[in-house]
Amino acid sequence: MSARGSEPMDRSEPRPPPQEGAEGEDFGYRLFPERRSEAKPQRSFLATSLLTFNHKCQVMLKIALNTSPYAQLLLDAMKQSGCTVHEDRHFACEDCDGCVSGGFDSATSQIVLCQNNIHQQSHMNRVVTHELIHAFDHCRAHVDWFSNVKHLACSEIRAANLSGDCSLINEMTRFKFGLKQHHQTCVRDRAIRSILAVRKVSKETAEKAVDGVFDSCFNDHEPFGRVPHSKSDAKYAYRNFQNRDRYYANL
Ligand SMILES: [Zn+2]
Repeated sequence: MSARGSEPMDRSEPRPPPQEGAEGEDFGYRLFPERRSEAKPQRSFLATSLLTFNHKCQVMLKIALNTSPYAQLLLDAMKQSGCTVHEDRHFACEDCDGCVSGGFDSATSQIVLCQNNIHQQSHMNRVVTHELIHAFDHCRAHVDWFSNVKHLACSEIRAANLSGDCSLINEMTRFKFGLKQHHQTCVRDRAIRSILAVRKVSKETAEKAVDGVFDSCFNDHEPFGRVPHSKSDAKYAYRNFQNRDRYYANL
């Protein structure tokens, strides 16, 4: 979902550790200038404004973590899988290039939130959810983010499908297109664009990777157990998840 027309606002992909002196390899770190070691903090009017952005970002993050049923379900699921997420250690509000809105840094297991590009709470909620799905995938499976584009494709499909990235569009176009068909098209399209934003691969390669794993990854709804198309769907999924948890705890 984008405040800027057709730009994919959550070009938010797992990134590798920085390459030593790497100019040639470009895995997407160019999008996150503050992750580069040469980025120096500056004291200027600009820096002061960024502090304000940073504060707003932290506040919106806190609200997302405490009130979004999508985020709460994912946090619980990760805790259950042995990957407890800590707000202060696993999230970072930073400035990003272009219209990127977030990313998952698998080297540090940190979720980057682009404080200069996220201005609304609903957008923050979606980005946090999208990135937590990458973090969940990273936790539960050995994901080879950087040399196996199919792994990345699968996580992008899941993130687009389950985070609500495609739900608003659905709301607007459900009278024009078949709802289900449109949702699939949106998920495929976003996954391809996400891969292209951070990997130097051709469009054909990205499409092939997404299409090759689409069916199995699109139908993998863990840990939601469904596609949460709306906040009330997500609340329902969260309640079910808690009950499932309680049920197993009593066995
Ligand atoms: Zn992503």
